[in-house]
Amino acid sequence: IPVERIRNFSIIAHVDHGKSTLADRLLEFTGAIKPNSGQNQVLDKLQVERERGITVKAQTASLLYQWNDEQYLLNLIDTPGHVDFSNEVSRSLLACQGVILLVDANDGVQAQTVANFYLAFGNDLVIIPVLNKIDLKNSNPDRVCKQLESLFDINPKEVLKISAKLGIGIEAVLERVITDLPAPSVNRTAPFRALLFDSSYDRYRGVLSMVYLTDGSLKIGDHIESCYSKKQYEVKMLSLLKPQEQQVDKLMAGQIGMVSCNMRSPQEAHIGDTLYLIGQTVEPLHGFTPIRPMVFAGVYPMDQSQHVTLRSAIEKLTLNDSAVTVEIDSSPALGQGWRLGFLGLLHLEVFSQRLQQEYGAEAILTAPSVIYKVKLKPTKQTFKDGTDIVCINNPALWPDTVKIEECFEPMVIGTIITPDKYLGPIMSLCMERRGVQKSAVNIDNERVMLQYDMPLCEIIVDFHDALKSLSSGYASFDYEDNGYTSSNLVKMNILLNGEAIEELSFIVHTSKAQTMGKQMALKLKDMIPRQMVNIAVQATVGGKVLARQDIKAYRKDVTQWLYGGDVTRRKKLLAQQAAGKKKMRMIANISVPRDTFINVLKR
Ligand code: GDP
Ligand code: MG
Repeated sequence: IPVERIRNFSIIAHVDHGKSTLADRLLEFTGAIKPNSGQNQVLDKLQVERERGITVKAQTASLLYQWNDEQYLLNLIDTPGHVDFSNEVSRSLLACQGVILLVDANDGVQAQTVANFYLAFGNDLVIIPVLNKIDLKNSNPDRVCKQLESLFDINPKEVLKISAKLGIGIEAVLERVITDLPAPSVNRTAPFRALLFDSSYDRYRGVLSMVYLTDGSLKIGDHIESCYSKKQYEVKMLSLLKPQEQQVDKLMAGQIGMVSCNMRSPQEAHIGDTLYLIGQTVEPLHGFTPIRPMVFAGVYPMDQSQHVTLRSAIEKLTLNDSAVTVEIDSSPALGQGWRLGFLGLLHLEVFSQRLQQEYGAEAILTAPSVIYKVKLKPTKQTFKDGTDIVCINNPALWPDTVKIEECFEPMVIGTIITPDKYLGPIMSLCMERRGVQKSAVNIDNERVMLQYDMPLCEIIVDFHDALKSLSSGYASFDYEDNGYTSSNLVKMNILLNGEAIEELSFIVHTSKAQTMGKQMALKLKDMIPRQMVNIAVQATVGGKVLARQDIKAYRKDVTQWLYGGDVTRRKKLLAQQAAGKKKMRMIANISVPRDTFINVLKR
């Protein structure tokens, strides 16, 4: 297919606005899958995606479509909509010339619609505005068109109206993709050059790289080189994803395809790398700026015998999810492990779920932390080398209070879109999370867009859940990085029977130390099961006890109180007790459930 008849596009939208459903319809319409085949969200391949009903990884599909007697190749890249996965979105956009901006005609413009719009707009992509779910009784396309007009200057006449679920208006979407989008600007006669924009690991074939060819062509047997590492490889297999894999002998500029070559380890596939034929000198394609992880947590095996299994699972999964950063870490209570960086809490939770589901690796995650900066008081040492600011992503490494001159914490600009009737509770929530309001604008007669300057640590754990429950699910939220600000921070230690448990310690603003300490102690009392000995839970700051709770010792046998009792009931209880133990970890001679570390921080 000639380059003039190739279109590369992506669907971007707020979560649940129907991207995956529209992708399914596009696949059906172009014959890639059979209609009514009962397959839903075909591109959501991962188990975690099907379970959570969200898209985590961007997936690609190459579609052939007959239009005006000519055959077109449409490369569709499905993207995730959640804030935590915005790097998947920006990565997908690099291979595209345009996007379908999909908006739910009932819910209207939401926080991620705004973020995604600006991402596409900033990348100079053609934007095709599409309203979905017009079949819904309560849908209000006119109101949503007005929102698009007032926020993004989109002419209501250009907005398509469809129902992805019922398959209404799908043909018009394909036509607009063909007529509005330019063909990719690529050169088929130049020497081969491609952007490596995604990769994954296959147990049998090793590293699989997704590439977008900007120049020339690539055949099986070609010898290629990585711009990043200068390592050389031989191409073993090439395929198109339709979305079922179809092996081909050759890929040409403008196409998106999958390459397997003799890359041994997952680390060799660098996202953003440029590939070219050995012996050619080429300009590297501009990659994308890697998004910095914002949330860090320790990841440890349940016991050290599982260390190797967990390490290889982490290596393979980070290949597939390049936004995760990995450092080696160790802790007195949990042994050897890693400190991983994530884009947000959902990202972290999805990662640990994937470790378990896809690699059978059970891990303990510690309480998440952001990166703080601490300016140390000058000493002779620091004057010598001139570095007196340290970055700390692990509360265990927090310096002694006496050594600290000033602390800084990361801030974000949060965007919230909500029906105005929830304004009061939402503003209180933001204030409680130390937010400072920057703006409030009406986007139509009943919806408001708020912007807040907020500390990142206040939103990473459960802000989104709190916002959703306050607004019966109607408010949406997105955020972007806004640098660092000076702040009064202290380290809170958690002691179990007098022993400080570093894995449970966290950094807190002084104004909140008292309440957080009380909450933590109460939570731990709830979460740690009663045991053979009494357990004292204490929350301390700088040696001062702010809160204490006691967990009374347990009787030896859970079934003791069932005098004589029913045998099956007794067996069942004992089995439950045994199963419960498996997910426990001994810390300071106390068994702590494995999810304690992450759950204690949720308010
Ligand atoms: P995504 O998160 O953007 O990928 O959204 P999904 O495609 O997973 O869709 C979210 C939900 O909206 C699913 O329950 C779909 O069945 C539903 N949905 C998608 N399109 C339509 C539509 O046109 N009409 C109606 N009524 N529901 C739809
Ligand atoms: Mg989806």
